Amino acid sequence: MDFELTPDQKAIRGVAREFADAELGEKIAPYDERHEFPHAVVKTLGELGFLGVLVSPEYGGAGLDYVSYTLIVAELCRGDASVGITMWAHNSLCTSHIDLFGSPEQKRRYLPPLATGRVLGAWGLTEPGSGSDAAALSTRAEARDGRWVLNGSKAFITNATVAGTTVVMARTEADPGPRGISAFVLEQGTPGFTAGRPYRKLGLHASDTAELVFEDARVPSENLLGERGRGFAQARQVLEGGRIAMAAMGVGIAEAAIDHAIAYMRQRTAFGKTLAEFNGLQGMIADLATELEAARLLMLRAAYEKDRGRRSMHLAAMAKVFASEVAMKAATKAVQVHGGAGYITEFPVERIFRDAKLTEIGEGTSEVQRIVIAQELLRRA
Ligand SMILES: Cc1cc2nc3c(=O)[nH]c(=O)nc-3n(C[C@H](O)[C@H](O)[C@H](O)COP(=O)(O)OP(=O)(O)OC[C@H]3O[C@@H](n4cnc5c(N)ncnc54)[C@H](O)[C@@H]3O)c2cc1C
Repeated sequence: MDFELTPDQKAIRGVAREFADAELGEKIAPYDERHEFPHAVVKTLGELGFLGVLVSPEYGGAGLDYVSYTLIVAELCRGDASVGITMWAHNSLCTSHIDLFGSPEQKRRYLPPLATGRVLGAWGLTEPGSGSDAAALSTRAEARDGRWVLNGSKAFITNATVAGTTVVMARTEADPGPRGISAFVLEQGTPGFTAGRPYRKLGLHASDTAELVFEDARVPSENLLGERGRGFAQARQVLEGGRIAMAAMGVGIAEAAIDHAIAYMRQRTAFGKTLAEFNGLQGMIADLATELEAARLLMLRAAYEKDRGRRSMHLAAMAKVFASEVAMKAATKAVQVHGGAGYITEFPVERIFRDAKLTEIGEGTSEVQRIVIAQELLRRA
């Protein structure tokens, strides 16, 4: 067994780390305060190749493996989770869906602008009436006059208002379950297709999350992705990669929380000592660092299996549920270490704490991940 990253993997992690240290963190915290999408930073992500990490060079991407990808996502989320989720929703969800299931013509049309960052991507599965039970979605797509006509809406979609390309799951068949669903690629400006106003969220204020609305949205027939009726099966496969990315987000957030807690413990004094000298707080940091290491190993294991084309749905779910709960715990403890200072916006842990909560909800809640893991174990038994 080899725990060593390859020289290329170390190098790309180094690039992401340097970028996060120089351009994210406190430098872009004002965007969070203003609930503003950081367009300039996202443009730089494109220039660095981070918006086409998984896409093959044939379509303008870097063609890196999933291990490298998780290392980049974790570093970006360590720097700023809003920037991190913008990047990985674009890569893991929209771009990967087209890469995995698009026709050669669809790949030629959509992947190069996505991979270079000229166009951002979004992916819509969740609806106001269906989240965990995603197969119950009710947005309809009807074949009419040689095109698809979509009606319905999507809720909580990352990059909804800033995306030029959006993949959407909609019901095309009478079957009320997963087999009635197909996937489509929609372009910004499609008649009848609009995004709502971005939500005011608990955290990730600098990321763009909004509703998508389809009112007789007219989509060319050639924009069906893959086979008709296979959209939900495709989405499940896409979610496997998304959950590994969310695990990486948890790892990055936990690392940031622990780093800030340690820095504060070194400088804050009480009872004539620095906080770093109190055994109770040392034990807290030791536990968090141990759990972070376990989360990182689960993330890498899931990515490693995915790189080898092996089934990794339950490993992705394990990595996601564990890393997200470590992120939430580390953020909570980091606020605690800061005392009153942790509760005000002047210190980064306040933002980190708010951002961490999403990791336990998005890409399937913790409860849903546990269902996925249990189903796999019971299937084998
Ligand atoms: C910031 C943000 C970004 C997002 N980005 C996207 C995106 O880009 N694309 C997209 O498609 N979606 C996105 N989502 C949606 C996200 O994936 C859903 O919110 C999530 O899957 C949960 O669905 P729900 O909100 O409908 O909760 P519900 O399904 O209503 O769940 C409510 C509660 O019930 C629990 N629950 C439900 N079923 C069970 C069960 N069988 N057993 C036990 N407990 C259960 C849940 O765990 C949860 O605690 C995003 C959400 C947020 C907040």
